[in-house]
Amino acid sequence: MNVIVFGPPGAGKGTQAALLRERLGMAHFSTGEEFRRHITDGTALGQQIRAIVESGDLVPDAIVLDVVRDALQSDRFRNGCIFDGFPRTLEQAYALDQLLADFGQSVDAVLTIDVPDDELVRRMLARGRSDDTESVIRERLRIYRERTEPVLAYYEQRGKLYRIRGDAPIEQVHQEIRTVLDSLAGER
Ligand code: ADP
Repeated sequence: MNVIVFGPPGAGKGTQAALLRERLGMAHFSTGEEFRRHITDGTALGQQIRAIVESGDLVPDAIVLDVVRDALQSDRFRNGCIFDGFPRTLEQAYALDQLLADFGQSVDAVLTIDVPDDELVRRMLARGRSDDTESVIRERLRIYRERTEPVLAYYEQRGKLYRIRGDAPIEQVHQEIRTVLDSLAGER
């Protein structure tokens, strides 16, 4: 099963993806984690994208897609994956369909975690990552609305979109996600 955990920055995508990996043993791929690792390790890619990530902007699609294409070659994704923080643009969504089709797979479900903006900002400030200053957070939310939110309509038209209430305790959000995944598994 290929599942996309979707939502604005601070919605809890990484937290929920990690719980699914732990409890269901699903493979998990986070583009944000991958980019932060490159930045920390000072790789050529890390040096290329550092300023972009720190400003709150999106890494260019071509770079993102190179990283995802590379990762998906790994055998650990042959039974599907939880994608976290990807796709973030329509171009990335189209490309993901192509990449998965090469392995005879497709996107099964997109779980979008809804959280009000004030709560998102509060959570990100509390998290205190280096790209979590108030002005950068506002910029990331703006870019999310402008470039990433349109991706939802693409999956909604394909009947793949499920809305999850994210303004709730972590376990409760997890249970809501499990209910959706269980119902999908039942259909297969
Ligand atoms: P959050 O869940 O708070 O949005 P992420 O860890 O997903 O944080 O992403 C951190 C940063 O990494 C983003 O603000 C962006 O600069 C970059 N990034 C991550 N994934 C993508 C992507 N799919 N496309 C473009 N940029 C990305």
